[in-house]
Amino acid sequence: MAMAEKDFVLSVEGLTVSFDGFKAVNDLSFYVEEGEIRVIIGPNGAGKTTVLDLICGRTQATEGSIKFRGKELTKMKEHSIVHAGVGRKFQNPSIYEDLTVFENLELSYPKGWTVFGALAFKRDEHVIQEVESIAKTIFLDEFLDKPAGLLSHGQKQWLEIGMLLIQKPDLLMLDEPVAGMSVAERKKTAELLNRITEGRSVIVIEHDMQFVEDIAHRVTVLHQGKVLSEGSMDRVKNDPNVVEVYLGH
Ligand code: ADP
Ligand code: MG
Repeated sequence: MAMAEKDFVLSVEGLTVSFDGFKAVNDLSFYVEEGEIRVIIGPNGAGKTTVLDLICGRTQATEGSIKFRGKELTKMKEHSIVHAGVGRKFQNPSIYEDLTVFENLELSYPKGWTVFGALAFKRDEHVIQEVESIAKTIFLDEFLDKPAGLLSHGQKQWLEIGMLLIQKPDLLMLDEPVAGMSVAERKKTAELLNRITEGRSVIVIEHDMQFVEDIAHRVTVLHQGKVLSEGSMDRVKNDPNVVEVYLGH
């Protein structure tokens, strides 16, 4: 690779994880740029979720390197990785159903970021502004006082994305964010993701090809823990290797 490391927010190199001898991720390398939306696709069991687990420190790598803004993540604990600026959404939303949308967002506001005495008194006001601004981004500004449990499935997914956004991650990772959503909700989610990439990169795992087409700057096709194909949606779609793997299922 002749490309300078600093051009990438995330550099994954030679990443391998072995579960009792089975390599779920096998000598995987890929690179994500700032402002990029990267979509990872691939058949079930390809290792997609495991890649996110490795990046966020939930699973220990057996071999290889994950560099995020120059920091080696494979040696860091999960909470330090969050603090370094990596946010991750899991497949099932983890929101507080009894609390309102406002309260859910407020709770996710990072604590201890305005500890300097002179700023402390401004904090409440600042938090309210942040919550309102994020609520707009996630199409929930009309529902701030609504208990989260009463939101639709899609709205709950957006709320959880908002709970990550309020922590201002430089890298946001989403595992199948539009599963179970209506077509209209999928369109809005694509719009949402396209709006939040300023100074930020996003990695999305997704099956819905229309959605992938709406958001992906580049697509990485994973198969048996390795990159099968990578590039623009058009390129990947027409790659005979990709066609074969998908038709073979
Ligand atoms: P995908 O998200 O692409 O469907 P996963 O990353 O969830 O695939 O899983 C890849 C493979 O690794 C699967 O065969 C799965 O059973 C296996 N796997 C994932 N996590 C573990 C684990 N903690 N222990 C053992 N095997 C696992
Ligand atoms: Mg998965």
